[in-house]
Amino acid sequence: MLCRSSIVRKCITRKLASTASIKPKLIDVLIVGGGPAGLTLASTLKSTPTLQSLSTVLVDAGDLMGKVAPFYDSPPEQFTNRVVSLTPPSKDFLETRAGVRLLEERIQPYDGMHVTDGCSNATLDMEKDSMAFMVEILNIQSSLLKRLDQMQLPTSSFQLLDNTKVANIEYSNPNDPHSWPLVTLENGEVYKTRLLVGADGFNSPVRKFSKIESRGWFYNRFGVVATMKLEYPPFKLRGWQRFLPTGPIAHLPLPDNNATLVWSTTEPLSRLLREITPEQFAGLVNAAFVLEDADMRYYYDQLEKNNISTEKLLEDIQFRTEQVYDSLESEDLIDEIYPPRVTEILGPSRARFPLKMFHADTYCSDRIALVGDAAHTTHPLAGQGLNMGQGDVEALVKALETASKRGLDVGSMLSLQPFWAERYPINNMLLGMTDKLHKIYGTDFGPVVALRSLGVNALNNISPIKNLITNLLSDSGK
Ligand SMILES: Cc1cc2nc3c(=O)[nH]c(=O)nc-3n(C[C@H](O)[C@H](O)[C@H](O)COP(=O)(O)OP(=O)(O)OC[C@H]3O[C@@H](n4cnc5c(N)ncnc54)[C@H](O)[C@@H]3O)c2cc1C
Repeated sequence: MLCRSSIVRKCITRKLASTASIKPKLIDVLIVGGGPAGLTLASTLKSTPTLQSLSTVLVDAGDLMGKVAPFYDSPPEQFTNRVVSLTPPSKDFLETRAGVRLLEERIQPYDGMHVTDGCSNATLDMEKDSMAFMVEILNIQSSLLKRLDQMQLPTSSFQLLDNTKVANIEYSNPNDPHSWPLVTLENGEVYKTRLLVGADGFNSPVRKFSKIESRGWFYNRFGVVATMKLEYPPFKLRGWQRFLPTGPIAHLPLPDNNATLVWSTTEPLSRLLREITPEQFAGLVNAAFVLEDADMRYYYDQLEKNNISTEKLLEDIQFRTEQVYDSLESEDLIDEIYPPRVTEILGPSRARFPLKMFHADTYCSDRIALVGDAAHTTHPLAGQGLNMGQGDVEALVKALETASKRGLDVGSMLSLQPFWAERYPINNMLLGMTDKLHKIYGTDFGPVVALRSLGVNALNNISPIKNLITNLLSDSGK
């Protein structure tokens, strides 16, 4: 008797065999992936005079038109839970080159980051007007879909195929890796493309086909995200990040009294943070920015063993945080050094994502380019992942424009090489910096804590270096 999986395998094999006889459609650019990177590329290609004549198809496995596009015309009242910090160059690129109008009323600019160490009193206070913008990923994607829709492009120029998975990729001439790739979709359609772009995320099928190695590691840490309501709108519009020995917790502003959270932590703790009640979770977030690690470990332990009621937990957190507030020189300092207190965690907004650092050896080979998470993934502590992807798209478009003006084949290595030469070093530097930060802060070993605290306090007092770091974080995506 055949099991279900072997039946499915046989069906796919039969379908692929039958596609050998299907006449492929010839196109210039096939983009796999309708995440922020893929949609930005599609919209920019179609908005760039020298490139808009390239016949382009974007394929995505998800329901972009049914689930993502409606966000633009009827956004939900509450903020969604995938929110990113978009740098000014990334936002500018979306608006001026991809031609997008983001839903401004759902975006929150912020003017700095207050970074503290959970094991010492070290503080780094970065200040810059509109250092970055907190934006929901659905805002970015739906605005790009709106833009593509408004351009009313004929199908010969652009086609979006959602709910469609790429089933197979091969070279049209198996003996010639310079030949145009043949891409077979799950619906049986076959495309032969001059340039294949992998904007298809961490597990990128395009990268796997290209045999480009991606090297890195899983951190054995998870990012728990949540959307929060605050006691009152923040006194200062800035992000708050505290490095706990288990990983950093970041509290970032959204319009009015809303905020978003990324709590990076160990696997067991991330599970606990998802399982506890929203009230308990809100209490722990408030505690994490104020109390000592020993207090936090006590709460985790009590919650793990189911040894503490919600009422008792919240009472205890309130009591201990009040003690810390009372020890401050002035009451005004409370709003200066701690984020506004969380009063509510919205609905089912808690989710967790595995954290990792991977970097592809190169971003292109003949007829193939990789952008966004297909080329690199990073720990969210520096808020750079999506911005790096926007920078990739900008560099790729620039390389394609140059190639097109010189009459070169846009799928050739000659055309693509400047793109990866521009992006690899900057991405490598950001990935390395983020990874080192994760490692330096992932310990409560006394001498390391002492050294890093010394360094951070010194940095906080040397304005030129502090400004350099602030600008590096807020300029990425360029
Ligand atoms: C907790 C957390 C917080 C973060 N915070 C920030 C932040 O503050 N700032 C920041 O810049 N970044 C942040 N990031 C990173 C950011 O979310 C990602 O870098 C970004 O979303 C990646 O976009 P992408 O378009 O490259 O890939 P993805 O969004 O992964 O899109 C890939 C697309 O490819 C499609 N696909 C895959 N395989 C196939 C196939 N076989 N056929 C068809 N389609 C396929 C998928 O359906 C998907 O739509 C954060 C990440 C995490 C986990």
